[in-house]
Amino acid sequence: PVTLKIILIGSSGVGKSSFMNRYVNHRFTNMYRATIGTDFLSRTVTIDEDTVTLQIWDTAGTERFQSLGTPLYRGAHCCMLVFDVTSRASFSALVEWRKEFLIQGEPQDPSDFPFIVLGNKTDLSNREVSGRKALQWCEEIGAEYFEGSAKDDLDVEKPFLRAAQSGLQQ
Ligand code: GDP
Ligand code: MG
Repeated sequence: PVTLKIILIGSSGVGKSSFMNRYVNHRFTNMYRATIGTDFLSRTVTIDEDTVTLQIWDTAGTERFQSLGTPLYRGAHCCMLVFDVTSRASFSALVEWRKEFLIQGEPQDPSDFPFIVLGNKTDLSNREVSGRKALQWCEEIGAEYFEGSAKDDLDVEKPFLRAAQSGLQQ
């Protein structure tokens, strides 16, 4: 069976751990636990006729990650750039996160590497980043856009399914 490495990056607190925990374990906790170093969770899915194991990597989301960057980012099949729709700053930061990934991850074909942009926390009403604005940036960089909520379990499956599909083409 195929194993795909999917990596989640973005600023601390945007909900990377929560989103992946919701997807893999179908659970959400309000308790804030800082991710120490790196961690991955696996879930096996069937896409078309293929059985694919997604190895989903979460990161600490601080500058601490940089020393781990090279081995962590290498060999990724898809990169999910995660922001919080109630934080303009977390959205703006994705430019740098993407750069960092392209430098450290050394994808074989950087212009063709699949990025997925994921806006989390759509359950909250104090939104600072519109879907339209996010989509606009995605068009510029050739990424796909998804948004959802780890807390309310809204649209959690779709971005991972798409990550798996695009990762399979890598
Ligand atoms: P990470 O640093 O990116 O891994 O973020 P965490 O997953 O640790 O989440 C940071 C905080 O945001 C925690 O208090 C979570 O409970 C909260 N959080 C995560 N996802 C959501 C969501 O979809 N909606 C809301 N309202 N809060 C969320
Ligand atoms: Mg985390």
